[in-house]
This record gives sequence, structure tokens and C-alpha cells, in this order.
Amino acid sequence: MNFEDYVKQIVDDIDDQKTKGIAKKAIDIGFKNLTAPQKYALEQGISDFIMKECPVCGEEINYEDMQSAIFNGECSYCQHRWDEMLAE
Ligand SMILES: [Zn+2]
Repeated sequence: MNFEDYVKQIVDDIDDQKTKGIAKKAIDIGFKNLTAPQKYALEQGISDFIMKECPVCGEEINYEDMQSAIFNGECSYCQHRWDEMLAE
């Protein structure tokens, strides 16, 4: 999954109309084709949806796992480790 795919997944959850408009544009033409101010506005606007590193273990989080990582507050690996600990 790339950035545009991820934006596609979260676009309906974006409340700010301006950010949403830019997000749709990024999906249409690609993030790299946005103007610098648009890129900046989009990155700021969706910062709540972006977690690049796990706050627990510091591992890089890919876009596939990002939504659940944000929901859980940790990456799938940490989540899994926690599940195992509870099971013991
Ligand atoms: Zn982690």
C-alpha cells in the first residue's frame, strides 16, 4: 500500500473540508504532483491519521498497519506481544 492508497482509506474520516479536497486531489493526481503548499496542508491536516513509528518499540509502521496501530497506540508486533503476555 502506498501513501495514496492510505489516503483513499481515510479520506471519508477527514473532517476538514479543505484537507479533504486536497486529499481527493492527491488520490487523483498523486501526492508528488501536488503543489508544495498543498502537500504541506495535507500532511498537517491528516497528521492524526499518520503514525510513522511505533511509540512503544520505535519500529517503522507501514500503511497497511497504520490505522490499527493508531487505534491500538502501538504496532501489530507490540500488540501481538501483549496478547501473548496475557495468554501466559
Ligand atoms: Zn511496536
